Amino acid sequence: MPVLHNRISNEELKARMLAETEPRTTVSFYKYFHIDDPKAFRDVLYVCLTKLNVFGRIYVAKEGINAQVSVPESQFAAFKTALFASHPALDQVRLNIALEDDGKSFWVLRLKVRERIVADGIDDESFDPSNVGQYLKAEQVNAMIDDPDAVFVDMRNHYEYEVGHFDQALEVPSDTFRDQLPMAVDMLEEDKDKKIVMYCTGGIRCEKASAYMLHKGFKNVYHVEGGIIEYARRAKEQGLPVKFKGKNFVFDERMGERISEDVIAHCHQCGEPCDDHTNCKNDGCHLLFIQCPTCAAKFGGCCSDICQTELKLPREEQRALRAGRENGIKIFNKSKGLLHSTMHIPVPEKE
Ligand SMILES: [Zn+2]
Ligand SMILES: [Zn+2]
Repeated sequence: MPVLHNRISNEELKARMLAETEPRTTVSFYKYFHIDDPKAFRDVLYVCLTKLNVFGRIYVAKEGINAQVSVPESQFAAFKTALFASHPALDQVRLNIALEDDGKSFWVLRLKVRERIVADGIDDESFDPSNVGQYLKAEQVNAMIDDPDAVFVDMRNHYEYEVGHFDQALEVPSDTFRDQLPMAVDMLEEDKDKKIVMYCTGGIRCEKASAYMLHKGFKNVYHVEGGIIEYARRAKEQGLPVKFKGKNFVFDERMGERISEDVIAHCHQCGEPCDDHTNCKNDGCHLLFIQCPTCAAKFGGCCSDICQTELKLPREEQRALRAGRENGIKIFNKSKGLLHSTMHIPVPEKE
């Protein structure tokens, strides 16, 4: 019986990875396809990838696989062969190679069986996430932009849409993907005969959304292959006009990759054009919001006077204040207007 999980301490594993001299390639991939026995599939894949010294995290569910892994360079060809052979649905699956990555983010392989690869809250047994819409490559996306019969639908969060989106794309203003699916169906009720083009950051959400629209009786459903990341990469590579305006928001230090020079968002404090997200410097707040350099200087990187004042207090007092505060909104929603000092911190009611 092979060992199907690691038995060495986390620290030891991390030290081993850091001591490696061979470069690693970080790659992500996902695929919706039906897996009868996710546990058995997981075990076979685990044995096979462990032999190749692959690290990372992989989720397997009845609806498919979602993975981000790092592979030693010398094993990359073997990795591809093994992955493509592991299931007919994974043959030639698109691998997204992370260019700006040193391959040091993983030091162990975690392969988990989950209920879903993307949580969707759908309770309908007859929904088949592998019955997805048609893929659009960059040049096809551009043709669709010019097609008056096509409706672009952004399947990301409001703060992602705010700093960048395709021209005239519809925003589905919900806080979670679960709420977004039924909301998109409602919003598009009148457009049932149109071409529905869905997109998200890397493709995994809009692909499921496209399957859901088909499930709900929409006939012409498309989605941007590989999401905004792949669209921008291909459009630039092929010298096509880039129809995505602004920034593609990503959760790393950069808080977004600039796709076009357009700045379509505004500072949440003064309203000047700006699309730089930041977290409030007050750790007791840490609100995600957009702040221009002028306001950053004026508020010391804080979201409000209150946070700025609080940040100057002795640590003990800061902690005491935090303890009594409920954890409220952590992401500023522009539909609530500009930020003002009492926005998200409860203050005593006025007379
Ligand atoms: Zn400002
Ligand atoms: Zn704050």
